[in-house]
Amino acid sequence: MKRGLLIVISGPSGVGKGTVLKEFINDPELKLAYSVSMTTRAMRPGEVDGVNYYYVTREEFERARDNGELLESAEFVGNYYGTPLKSVEKLRNEGKNVLLEIEVEGCRQVCEKVPEAVTIYIVPPSMEELERRIRGRSTEPEEIVQQRLAKAARELTMVGHYKYVVCNDDVKLAADIIRVIIKRHMELDT
Ligand code: 5GP
Repeated sequence: MKRGLLIVISGPSGVGKGTVLKEFINDPELKLAYSVSMTTRAMRPGEVDGVNYYYVTREEFERARDNGELLESAEFVGNYYGTPLKSVEKLRNEGKNVLLEIEVEGCRQVCEKVPEAVTIYIVPPSMEELERRIRGRSTEPEEIVQQRLAKAARELTMVGHYKYVVCNDDVKLAADIIRVIIKRHMELDT
């Protein structure tokens, strides 16, 4: 069986990655499987353990990382995030195209290990719009919102590390562009 692609999607928090992903993640033609990350951050309302993330303690995370169980890992706004290696390998070997929704440092590590990864960065139409979106959905204190905005501004200077940059001005359009990118890579890979 043909091994699946490894697809990385990044973008500043609040850019609407989740909303764009929802538009195409269940498209049967794309044969996608979402990689559930491990994190030490607190669960947000509506999130489910094992669906959005595996929620673990810092000790559990550090143990997994030090045992080589993570494809990549990074610290983001005081919490650890990482991609479990075993499930990514298993899914790719089953022919699924595995989608990682991770931040920039994680993508850098993935690119070193898997240079053929299809990396896509989603940008907001403007910084003002990004701030509006972050505040609109915020369940977090002002200090954290400020940290996320500062991190977003820094992250946006890193778009050059990605193979593709897609603007999320219109959700459906952004999702369609990503669909085309994935389909093209599926063809290239055959
Ligand atoms: P959030 O706390 O908003 O769910 O995620 C914060 C940031 O962590 C987002 O940019 C998200 O893409 C990133 N992230 C989620 N999972 C992982 C992961 O496994 N590895 C890395 N490096 N970043 C992740």
